[in-house]
Amino acid sequence: MASKSAFKCDCCGLCCRQLKRVPQLSAFDRGDGVCINLNKQNRCNVYTNRPEICNTELMYQRYFASKMTREEYDLLNMQICQELKSCNKMDKSFKR
Ligand code: SF4
Ligand code: SF4
Repeated sequence: MASKSAFKCDCCGLCCRQLKRVPQLSAFDRGDGVCINLNKQNRCNVYTNRPEICNTELMYQRYFASKMTREEYDLLNMQICQELKSCNKMDKSFKR
């Protein structure tokens, strides 16, 4: 059975604004790096059918479960989020 993720996304929307860095999502780039599926509430309009690379659960099960524990994977994801926020001058208390 899949373990439940401890990773909590606060819907800041930053990762969905970095498509210039993600070649797998280039078809969704509206031209400035922002995903065409990101709505004004920083939510994904195609969430239930989002691409594989946007689905952390799927990515873990398919590619990372044999390489690291769920806790390690969640920690990595949290670190990437914080780095992204830090680069964009958003602190840990940032909320929508
Ligand atoms: S950067 Fe992290 S917290 Fe912000 S929307 Fe993406 S996954 Fe969620
Ligand atoms: S498809 Fe959805 S989750 Fe993926 S980058 Fe676009 S808005 Fe974000």
